[in-house]
Amino acid sequence: MSREKMQAAAKILREVAAGTSPVPWKASGNHLDGPKGAVAIAYQCFADARWMMLVDSGLAEPLANWLEDAADTWRQQVRESDGKHEECGGRVNDDDPDRCWCFEYPSAAAQHILDRAGRAEPAPV
Ligand SMILES: [Zn+2]
Repeated sequence: MSREKMQAAAKILREVAAGTSPVPWKASGNHLDGPKGAVAIAYQCFADARWMMLVDSGLAEPLANWLEDAADTWRQQVRESDGKHEECGGRVNDDDPDRCWCFEYPSAAAQHILDRAGRAEPAPV
């Protein structure tokens, strides 16, 4: 994982959210509605509609900001030459026995977004 992936994921979140229906979305049974009407119908289970309600595009900006904050922290605290994180002394390389785990959650979120967006590697930001 890299700070570039966190930045790329933040960009994707903003781009995709900009094209969605207005929020907030509300779930009613398997229906998902927004201020301007129906957004989606969850065909398999009601929880799908509730999940989409929780993560409607109103979450994009705070999630993108969180990813960018983590990327900024990485830029400020991780030595580029060897990946050493000043705060914990670990290294940000996944296979290092003294691995840094400080960026685990934003890295996982960024990787999920990149995977779901069909981008194995981050696009230039
Ligand atoms: Zn660390």
